[in-house]
Amino acid sequence: RAKSAGRNTYRFHSMEQDRRGAERLALESDLRRAVENGELEVYYQPKVRPTDHRIVGMEALMRWPSPKRGMVYPTQFIPLAEECGLIVPMGRWVLQRACADAQQLSQLLGEPLRVAVNLSSNQMRHDDISARVAEALAAAQLPAEQLELEVTESLMIHNMKAAVALLNDLRARRVRIAMDDFGVGYSSLSQLAHLSLDVLKIDRAFVRNMEQDAGNAAIIEAIINLAANLKLEVVAEGAETLDQVTRLKDLGCDLIQGYYYSKPLSLADLIAALQQGATFPREVDGEI
Ligand code: C2E
Ligand code: MG
Ligand code: MG
Ligand code: MG
Repeated sequence: RAKSAGRNTYRFHSMEQDRRGAERLALESDLRRAVENGELEVYYQPKVRPTDHRIVGMEALMRWPSPKRGMVYPTQFIPLAEECGLIVPMGRWVLQRACADAQQLSQLLGEPLRVAVNLSSNQMRHDDISARVAEALAAAQLPAEQLELEVTESLMIHNMKAAVALLNDLRARRVRIAMDDFGVGYSSLSQLAHLSLDVLKIDRAFVRNMEQDAGNAAIIEAIINLAANLKLEVVAEGAETLDQVTRLKDLGCDLIQGYYYSKPLSLADLIAALQQGATFPREVDGEI
């Protein structure tokens, strides 16, 4: 690297950083206003049993239909929300909404539907999750067994002791716990056996190219066998083709969540789909 370029490079980076900083601030203030004005929505992606294609539950996924920015996806605002602390009110809200909606959908269907809510490590550090869960369940009159919390391995890394205590507490309340994005994180298998878990969710990265990549297919098979031996339910994320669904079913995967069955849907679209029957895939309008 030429030394002479150093100065200009520095100034370029500085301007670039200013621009990004300004954008970040604008996004943060827009997000803050969106939270205050109730602009956020919860979408639901069905979890389907591949043996009979029936919906058994769904994952709650935040969406921000911004009048100014168009539809904003969680990867664009969740990390920011975690940094600026907005994740706490947002997390409380999504938990309440999801429990209430699950109760409404279960009544509609005449059978209990489960709902899964994502929990990020910053929420755990800055909020009393146990208390918030108890409040949300009580307000919605949703049986605890119908709520699942999806945690990631990063939750364990930051504060293993607090995380174990929280999971044990939730377990004692009969709330289900899922390990999300399994296989791409860092937690050791020996740790896994000591956590109060009910579900393993296979990360989408393994499913995406399981037909072409024999290594990924082998990893999926290993995770499914591990889950069976640990008596955990196993969910595969991101199945988009019938071939993937068929292979996952043949490997013994309990549930599938992916575009093949359905994209995440607004509550109204999910209700419309359920009113046509509880099997998927259905001809419904998902998101683009
Ligand atoms: P996640 O919890 O792993 O959620 C699954 C993501 O995979 C969702 O992305 C879903 O739309 C996407 N997905 C599912 N099936 C397919 C498929 O077949 N193909 C493709 N291409 N994608 C598929 P989404 O909704 O954009 O959410 C991204 C992440 O943002 C979530 O990953 C989760 O970590 C986070 N997130 C979303 N909502 C919340 C929330 O309410 N609270 C927290 N703390 N995090 C959330
Ligand atoms: Mg998740
Ligand atoms: Mg995931
Ligand atoms: Mg993820």
